[in-house]
Amino acid sequence: MPFTELQNELNERAAQGLLRQRRTLQGPQSPHILVDGKEYLSFCSNDYLGLANHPQLVAAMQQGAAQYGVGAGAAHLVSGHTQAHHDLEIALAAFVKKPAALLFSTGYMANLGAVRALVGKGDTVFADKLNHASLNDAMQLSRADMQRYRHNDIAQLAQLLEKTTSGRKLIITDAVFSMDGDIAPLPELLALCEQHDAWLLTDDAHGFGVLGEEGRGSLAHFGFAAPRIIYMATLGKAAGVSGAFVAAEQVVIDTLINHARSYIYTTAPPPALASAVLESLQLIEQGDELRAHLQGLIEQLRNGLQGLPWKLMPSETAIQPLLVGDNQSALELSAALRERGIWVAAIRPPTVPQGTARLRITLSAAHSAADVARLIGALHELAR
Ligand code: PMP
Repeated sequence: MPFTELQNELNERAAQGLLRQRRTLQGPQSPHILVDGKEYLSFCSNDYLGLANHPQLVAAMQQGAAQYGVGAGAAHLVSGHTQAHHDLEIALAAFVKKPAALLFSTGYMANLGAVRALVGKGDTVFADKLNHASLNDAMQLSRADMQRYRHNDIAQLAQLLEKTTSGRKLIITDAVFSMDGDIAPLPELLALCEQHDAWLLTDDAHGFGVLGEEGRGSLAHFGFAAPRIIYMATLGKAAGVSGAFVAAEQVVIDTLINHARSYIYTTAPPPALASAVLESLQLIEQGDELRAHLQGLIEQLRNGLQGLPWKLMPSETAIQPLLVGDNQSALELSAALRERGIWVAAIRPPTVPQGTARLRITLSAAHSAADVARLIGALHELAR
């Protein structure tokens, strides 16, 4: 029976400490979550600015639902593209200083759709080895030749580009690496693109709203721009809602509208989501205090976690991974924290390379200094 085979595979995963299970929250996303009737101090959401349950966003979504109903009812290219979607695309493009933007239902779909629309057989995609799964899947789906370079290794990438003499060239990279928290050297990548007439697609899921002036993201963080950069960011993290967008030259956006299958063959997201994101953009733009508070928490955590047997990985962002090593130890550390009422997810292979299981601590502007002090205290106690 195929069921026996499936069960055996799951048992095998469990034996390796790799079985994945969900926990159910009985309330909104927040630093203080309710799970199975118990309150936990959580360090594992991507709600970096604490907007996921912001009253202004809740009101904007309610207002959007009152105006547009709850379902878009059709794909964008049929009759599902509403004024709310349209207004949001214009606002997003302006916010990241690009000529045009296209809204997708999720970041995963944006990456699948964009890469496949831009390259195909005979072209080459160059990808950082630590890219997000959605970029890896996108590359496979595109059927372009795949060249993966060592994490942030510009010299190796240059060699690979040198050897590629035909077809379109597309470099794809997380802007902020989702499981490591470090920032890609985007200016150096762009310089290589200029040299080799390649495109740079950067996934700013974890930089948008957090990095750069007024939270405009990783391009603003480096203070640069170029038409050959195709900028993608998600709206379910710092923006607190759901969805994603690609911002680029108009011709690129028109190409995506015509060729991105994950855009064309799917129902448009509920217009009320777009109403909420529009409101979120205002809060992000005015969110300097939130970002300054978040920065303070990052420094507090990094200073506080010195001298532990586990090391914080080098990261200046809200993603602060604590490297543990083997899967079982990472699970045990996560479980020991949970017993103390603190929730930090253990991240294991294949999400991260073998032997680098870690606690992925994420900070949010909604945390207080006392919350972070509690985590620091608990980890020191467990180290003893
Ligand atoms: N890219 C990166 C770097 C991510 O971390 C994520 C989300 N984990 C995605 C894309 C996918 O975005 P979404 O959750 O909107 O599908």
